Amino acid sequence: MSIKAWHHRLFLGLLSSVLWLSCAHSPVPPAIPDAAVRVDFIAVGHGDAILVVSPGGKRLLIDGGDSDAAPTVLAHLRQRKACPLDLILLTHAHSDHAGGLTKVIEECGARLLVDSGYHHESKVYAHLLEKVEQHKVQLLQAVAGRQFDLGASAILTLLGPPQPFLQDGEEGVNSSSVVARLSLGTTSVLFMGDADATEERWLLGRSHPLQSMVLKVGHHGGRTSSTLEFLRAVSPRLAVISNWPDASKHPHPETMARLLEAKTKVLETAREGTIQLILDGEKMFLRTEKQPAEVELR
Ligand SMILES: [Zn+2]
Repeated sequence: MSIKAWHHRLFLGLLSSVLWLSCAHSPVPPAIPDAAVRVDFIAVGHGDAILVVSPGGKRLLIDGGDSDAAPTVLAHLRQRKACPLDLILLTHAHSDHAGGLTKVIEECGARLLVDSGYHHESKVYAHLLEKVEQHKVQLLQAVAGRQFDLGASAILTLLGPPQPFLQDGEEGVNSSSVVARLSLGTTSVLFMGDADATEERWLLGRSHPLQSMVLKVGHHGGRTSSTLEFLRAVSPRLAVISNWPDASKHPHPETMARLLEAKTKVLETAREGTIQLILDGEKMFLRTEKQPAEVELR
């Protein structure tokens, strides 16, 4: 499917009714029967790949890493019994977020893919769209305010992308990232994709609450994301950075200084390996590949 055809399908998707995950039939029994949401920031090197498994057993993947990361992502999904996925949320079309999804769709399967709808010409993105069509994955454009009911009071709310898009061309890809907030009771996680300061300013001007216990830092901790004003609005106890061992400016020292000023604990996948959060609606627990003993996040 061409990117043009995809955008036509996105438009049709907008006309159709909202798809609630809680209403969807799931062919596999819930993998996690307890009342916790589990969020795994998978260590994929350069890129993002985040698995969310809800108390209702819904399985969401936010981005899929680069194409080289596909075996790592697939191994994690299989280990978590997360296939087929109920939803893939592609924050934006850059290869370090979209590249691994082609294999995920082929080998794990997915019912629905939500993306920003921002026009981006790339072989990786075009190839992904071909797979989406070939495997009959439903497509939906992210619209700020849309909610996905994950069951047992867990809700995923889309806060972006901005509409209309804020920038054109290559710059606009990051600033049109799908931003999403997961909430269960008083526990919450904000997923930023590669959103930059431009999108952060837009989010600050909206009425939706941004405050979240955990922030998946935008753009791997790059300099042009995570302004102090934005960090103060989110007020996270923990900031998670998805990065890679030789990433000299991800996180950028200036971003780290702002996170320090915001008094936020910071964990990086490059140092910790895969980072796992467990949200029970009141408390949040944390463990990492490096520190596998579960600790409460205070
Ligand atoms: Zn990225």
